[in-house]
Amino acid sequence: MGGRIRRVVVHRRDVVRDRSNRREGRLFTGHLGRSHVVDSVDRRGKQLVVEFSNGGGMVVRLGMSGRITLGDGSKRNPATAHQHLAWMIEPSRPSQSPIRMSFIDPRRFGGVYLFSSIEDCRERLLAGLGPEATSIQGIHLGERLGRTRRAVKAALLDQSVLAGVGNIYADEALHRAGVHPERSGRSISLVEAKRLAAAIRLTLKRAIQVGGSTLRDHVLPDGSPGGFVGEHEVYGRGGEPCLSCGRQLEVIQIASRSSTFCPTCQG
Ligand SMILES: [Zn+2]
Repeated sequence: MGGRIRRVVVHRRDVVRDRSNRREGRLFTGHLGRSHVVDSVDRRGKQLVVEFSNGGGMVVRLGMSGRITLGDGSKRNPATAHQHLAWMIEPSRPSQSPIRMSFIDPRRFGGVYLFSSIEDCRERLLAGLGPEATSIQGIHLGERLGRTRRAVKAALLDQSVLAGVGNIYADEALHRAGVHPERSGRSISLVEAKRLAAAIRLTLKRAIQVGGSTLRDHVLPDGSPGGFVGEHEVYGRGGEPCLSCGRQLEVIQIASRSSTFCPTCQG
């Protein structure tokens, strides 16, 4: 970090919510960081919190299909579909090339939310976010699941229940823990919640290690989805045999998302 943002290119105004939470009207590129240094970038669940040296900053919500890519800013901008915003960042060391950071989101469920201070960010943009999935403990997961009758899979995807689990990782963790995705949250015992929490932590940890995780797969310079793709045990393998028991994996819809599971291992 520490690079200064020289230029901000806005291709689509309506993916940005200004400091008054408006999607229309005049946008100050200074609020998007122009002329300011990037002080820090943190991940909270499926969003990035970027702070600028002027005290303001932005929350980038990745939604279902959004990602941030980093590219070589000295080369021509490759014509990327659905690139809504781009930041040209001058590196802190002159020997490095400038960086082009792009926000790409084909389905536009994500967006960029500007804040005036970190307090404003916490109160307005991060309130209601559940605990971090990467460090969730079984007892806390059990408490949160115990408050809902919804399917456990739907609850895991709800960022106010748990921050940072997407569709792929939810399927993988449920399979690893041997929990059927349609079970009601309230029906999950403490023992199961502990197993599920351990499976979530392990799944996310392994994903981060191979470079295909919540944060890192969104910043691979070539925009590729990262190395986790080849490691899925259930996700994307509907109709194929379960790697543990050989039974055919089934696919159902839960909360409008596909869920792949093994009827035997997760019975
Ligand atoms: Zn199985």
